[in-house]
Amino acid sequence: MQTSVTPTHCPYCALQCGMNLTPVPDGDGGSVVEVTERTDFPVNQGALCGKGRTAPALLSSRVRLTTPLVRTDGELRPAGWDEALDRIAEGLSRTRTEHGPDACGIFGGGGLTNEKAYTLGKFARVALGTSQIDYNGRFCMSSAAAGGIKAFGLDRGLPFPLEDIPRTGCVILVGSNLAETMPPALRYLTELKENGGTLIVIDPRRTRTAEQADLHLAPRPGTDLALALGLLHLVVAQGRTDEAYIQERTSGWEEARAAAMAHWPEYVERITGVSVPQLRETVRMFCEPESAMVLTARGPEQQSKGTDTVGAWINLCLATGRAGRPYSGYGCLTGQGNGQGGREHGQKADQLPGYRKLDDPAARQHVAEVWGVDPDSLPGPGRSAYELLDAMGTDIRSLLVMASNPVVSAPRAAHIEERLRSLDFLAVADVVLSETAELADVVLPVTQWAEETGTTTNLEGRVLLRRQAITPPDGIRSDLYVMRELAARLGVEKGFPTDPEEVFEELRRASAGGAADYSGITYRRLVEEGGVFWPCPAEDGDGDGGRDGVHPGTPRLFLDRFATPDGRARFVVVSHRPLAEEPDEEYPVLLTTGRVVSQYQSGAQTRRVDELNAAAPGPFVELHPRLAERLGAVEGEPLAVVSRRGRAVAPARITTAIRADTVFMPFHWPGEGRANTLTNPALDPVSRMPEFKGCAVRVERVGSV
Ligand code: SF4
Repeated sequence: MQTSVTPTHCPYCALQCGMNLTPVPDGDGGSVVEVTERTDFPVNQGALCGKGRTAPALLSSRVRLTTPLVRTDGELRPAGWDEALDRIAEGLSRTRTEHGPDACGIFGGGGLTNEKAYTLGKFARVALGTSQIDYNGRFCMSSAAAGGIKAFGLDRGLPFPLEDIPRTGCVILVGSNLAETMPPALRYLTELKENGGTLIVIDPRRTRTAEQADLHLAPRPGTDLALALGLLHLVVAQGRTDEAYIQERTSGWEEARAAAMAHWPEYVERITGVSVPQLRETVRMFCEPESAMVLTARGPEQQSKGTDTVGAWINLCLATGRAGRPYSGYGCLTGQGNGQGGREHGQKADQLPGYRKLDDPAARQHVAEVWGVDPDSLPGPGRSAYELLDAMGTDIRSLLVMASNPVVSAPRAAHIEERLRSLDFLAVADVVLSETAELADVVLPVTQWAEETGTTTNLEGRVLLRRQAITPPDGIRSDLYVMRELAARLGVEKGFPTDPEEVFEELRRASAGGAADYSGITYRRLVEEGGVFWPCPAEDGDGDGGRDGVHPGTPRLFLDRFATPDGRARFVVVSHRPLAEEPDEEYPVLLTTGRVVSQYQSGAQTRRVDELNAAAPGPFVELHPRLAERLGAVEGEPLAVVSRRGRAVAPARITTAIRADTVFMPFHWPGEGRANTLTNPALDPVSRMPEFKGCAVRVERVGSV
């Protein structure tokens, strides 16, 4: 048993808080780990939320999987690793022979380490030969990624470190409930205010984060795009644009300006419900200080116009000369633990490692050389996450899922569950028997965060080393082992190492020269420096801060030029458009979904931690007293929320903190209260993000308290 303290990072959200782990005897001859404060990691400086504090509980949990399971006569039964892996290889091979490689799908996760995400992309394209790979991060930050690439030529969630937030003059936080999703980050907003800065929160609900704001705007769900355009209109009308900056550092302003000028404040007030005086006050607060930021999260991004909405907020930053200046600009608060790194190294349908594009011949050549394969053998881009899941049982006949639980997290979830059941073959690798794993033909029990070493990249683009602190229980194997063994059974004996550092060394070479260049980052540096921001080419390009010719990493992007061919940021021309599904007589209310502090994503892990489950035991329907009165509903009464896709039932939570035309449900639970039964899979045309944040529902009483 290791006895020393291991500095590492939380397994959950994109803040990737630092923590120390100390093994202690479990009284049964084994060991468990205890979490203690780690103050040397600057992001959280020792602070943790309940999820991080209780994260070790799942390592020794009774409900954790410790043996592979295979389905026989309709039931999952324990099996040995060879039998389970043989079954998966047979299932995938049969599909490949009968229907072609693209009938095999891979569904990954934003919780996988960089090494695993990289290997999964390689496994799909080299060992299986399929183009059909995507991951649950598509449901998380894909609109912000697409918006960032359009405007700046590069997507890195935050192009500046979190420590810049307290140094700015004003933050507009759009659709983020930091107080519930990443509580330790709230301190940055507190410090902002202590330093004299102001905070504007835009959210249809008066969340715990909104309560901290100097100004809270509560627009109707799905109207963030119009809101941003209305603000830009006022910026122009009041002569608050930064003409020198626009001239010097941007392109496309005239067209974007004309589009914004069509969005009169009164028109925007009618669309959003945000009053003209509130719009004017927002512009004043944002434009008066020398520096200011817009930070978006899932609210404006999880829409069928998410990419345009992000573009509209970036336009506001560009017109006011904010982006690419110190303590200023646009950033996205990525959600999942490795949501950033997970989208950089090849598990996304259209990408190769280093954030290279799969349809770029030079990118294919480079990566194929690293992989030792013919570039022509690499498949092209595949379907996006929802489209891949929707094709199950038709074009997709077999699926391998790693670190994801789409039965709970996908939109139109009952349909997705039915599609999963229609597959010829389903395999799931996970740490618990998630709702998706329950449907599988084979389930593989895999290692957890504290039982293995690997890198993640947090929401700032800071690459971090999660270190092994404890030996996994007998019977558990790592995802890297799974991929090596499956590749071998599919006829590819080489190229799938199981040592994470060896994988990272290959990832460094594969990413070299790409947008997300990790080639100058090593495990040794991550141990010594605690984290390195990408891009970090191997050489110290400018010679102004690297040690001995080593590149120091890049905490702040775009200060000199944007990552576009001409170095200029690009305005986008966007206009307001409604939700894909607006309320009508039959479905007169809007539904929006989100998170609570004690649960994480589909809840597969956190619902199995007693303390978290006690704090947040189930879903609820949050509604305004006026809507409750119209229904005759009382607090705690079960309410049915019905959309065109299904019905979910959960107790009423009545509060004035939500708009009267909107209900809110958290999405962490399966079964009767599954919020994603209701959500609309209408996709953004660019990012292919589903519209989680707004659809039409009706609310009905189903019984008494
Ligand atoms: Fe973990 Fe996120 Fe909580 Fe930090 S805020 S402890 S990273 S879940």
